[in-house]
Amino acid sequence: MHRLYENDDIVVFWNSDKCFHAKRCVHGSPGCFDPSRKPWIDLNRAETKQIWQAISECPSGALSCLYRHEIDVVIDVENCRSIAFDGDKEIGECNYRVSEEGWNIYHTGVQDDYTGKGIAKRLVYKVIEEAERNHAQIAATCSYAAKVIRE
Ligand code: SF4
Repeated sequence: MHRLYENDDIVVFWNSDKCFHAKRCVHGSPGCFDPSRKPWIDLNRAETKQIWQAISECPSGALSCLYRHEIDVVIDVENCRSIAFDGDKEIGECNYRVSEEGWNIYHTGVQDDYTGKGIAKRLVYKVIEEAERNHAQIAATCSYAAKVIRE
C-alpha cells in the first residue's frame, strides 16, 4: 500500500510493503504516527522538524519526505490523471489508462522550472494511491513511474 500525506510544509510517502513495524517513527513523534488511529499518520499533530527527524530514523525506507514547495497535487479521476499546481498554474501531470487488467501510467511530466522538487514522485504516488483505493492493479509503461512503483 502506498500513501501520501501532506501538511503546509512537507509531503510524506509511506510504502507499507517496506514497513516492518519497528515503530521508530511512533517513538520519534507519537502525535504524528499512531498505528491505532486512522489514518495512522497525521502531520498536523506535531512540529514539522520533529516529524522530519522521526522519518529520518525509519530503518526500512518505508517512510520518506520532501518539502512541499507550496505545490498542490490532486487527482482528476474523470480525466485519468493527477495534476500539480503552483497556485492556479498547472505545472505537471501524470496520466494513466484504465482497462480490465488495471491502471497503466504511461506519462509523467513536470515543467522544466519545477524539476528537482519531488513533484513527479508526488504525481505518481497520487495515482498509485487512487488505484489502490479502487482495488485496481497498477503498472507503468512510463519508465519514471515504473521506477517509483519498483521502489
Ligand atoms: S519506523 Fe519505518 S519501519 Fe518502523 S513502523 Fe515506522 S514506517 Fe514502519
